[in-house]
Amino acid sequence: MAKITLSNLRHSYLPNPSGPVDYALKEIDLDWQDGGAYALLGPSGCGKSTLLNIISGLLVPSEGRILFDDRDVTDLPPDQRNIAQVFQFPVIYDTMTVRDNLAFPLRNRGVDQARIAARVAEIAAMLEVEEMLDTRASHLSPDNKQKISMGRGLVRDDVNVVMFDEPLTVIDPHLKWKLRSKLKELHQRVKATMIYVTHDQTEALTFADQVVVMQEGEVVQIGTPVELFERPQHTFVGHFIGSPGMNVLPAEEHGGGARFQGRHVALEGAVTGQGGTTQIGIRPEFVSLADAGLPARVRKVSDVGRHAVVEAMVGDTPVKAIIEGELPEQGAEVHLAFRPSHTRLYRDGWLSTEVEGAAQ
Ligand code: ADP
Ligand code: MG
Repeated sequence: MAKITLSNLRHSYLPNPSGPVDYALKEIDLDWQDGGAYALLGPSGCGKSTLLNIISGLLVPSEGRILFDDRDVTDLPPDQRNIAQVFQFPVIYDTMTVRDNLAFPLRNRGVDQARIAARVAEIAAMLEVEEMLDTRASHLSPDNKQKISMGRGLVRDDVNVVMFDEPLTVIDPHLKWKLRSKLKELHQRVKATMIYVTHDQTEALTFADQVVVMQEGEVVQIGTPVELFERPQHTFVGHFIGSPGMNVLPAEEHGGGARFQGRHVALEGAVTGQGGTTQIGIRPEFVSLADAGLPARVRKVSDVGRHAVVEAMVGDTPVKAIIEGELPEQGAEVHLAFRPSHTRLYRDGWLSTEVEGAAQ
């Protein structure tokens, strides 16, 4: 296992990049701690696979360095980096049995027979594929093939990092849920550094201790699932994570707080910075119905089980609230209250309020 450092990393697939839009990765500085469970979360095309392939050595970055335990590996080929990578689609040997597929990464490294047998048995039990061990891989269903691919990624216990690139894409929903919990359990047992790439917030938040959120080739926030929920550093994080995501509302600075639809709104703390386009960010969980507050008209009520999502128009801007208990009728005139501790100003997308004594 190793600590992985990415320093001033930039990557363009173009031979002569001229501006930021030409870069698939804009400027990445990151430390992945030894033994951590990380998720790399972001929408399709934001640069996740590019970043993984740079770490594994399949791709050489246009600029910047990659260090494993402070040793520069930027110019080392993949086979000298001691990494296991599991891809979106199965990578297995069709003509071999499942057992031989699982054993392959170990045989390749000259591990002794007894140890191989023990590891293969252990991984097969974990993935619940014991009864398939003597089946030829070409006879497997796509999701079983992918399970074996994952097993091949996990079978060695001496790798620097295990990386998964959207590994559950071809897996059916029920098994997805099971494998996700298994991976988490496995991480806790083996303590290997793992990087799990996904565009699915649920997968990221269940697997990872630390989630790295990416947008358009940039890291916008690194944090625990709770931190990403509680205090998004960027409107993108607020909106991308959560169900529904954070309300992002047009607003101006006003008397130490903000003005939204002609009304003063209190913020979590002092406003920082100046200029730019300003917006309020507040999650639906912190918007409530009140006797006084922002006048609004209910547009839609969606009962989603334990609670309901109420969408109300404040002037011409829709605001979502998560409400438990008694629900208003569609068309009803209500008042919305924003919880000040979770109401923030964002400037050009970035958090622009601070709380005294709080970690930024
Ligand atoms: P993700 O894995 O987050 O979906 P990728 O890293 O695959 O994103 O892609 C990031 C950007 O780089 C996208 O704009 C994509 O079109 C581009 N890209 C990816 N691979 C290549 C390639 N081999 N050649 C040129 N452009 C690429
Ligand atoms: Mg990808």
